[in-house]
Amino acid sequence: MNVEICIIKERCKGCGICVEVCQTDVLELSDELNSQGYRTPRVKSAEECLNCGMCEMFCADFAIWVMTKAEEVGA
Ligand code: SF4
Ligand code: SF4
Repeated sequence: MNVEICIIKERCKGCGICVEVCQTDVLELSDELNSQGYRTPRVKSAEECLNCGMCEMFCADFAIWVMTKAEEVGA
């Protein structure tokens, strides 16, 4: 699916819920810490994303969301 997964790392609390609710294992917690010391998620396989919106719905900190990419139209 033609999607872009956006993560604002500074909003993240490192709870890992987005990772847990993703049925297709698109996300994982990285070793990267934000300025508050929380481990932030990263996208490991965007091509597996179903655009189900579960990660977005469950993130209490509005730190992750999914956008559908606009299709490129030939001139
Ligand atoms: S659900 Fe939100 S706060 Fe929790 S790890 Fe994912 S992006 Fe961070
Ligand atoms: S939109 Fe669904 S499939 Fe895509 S990363 Fe979020 S939870 Fe996973």
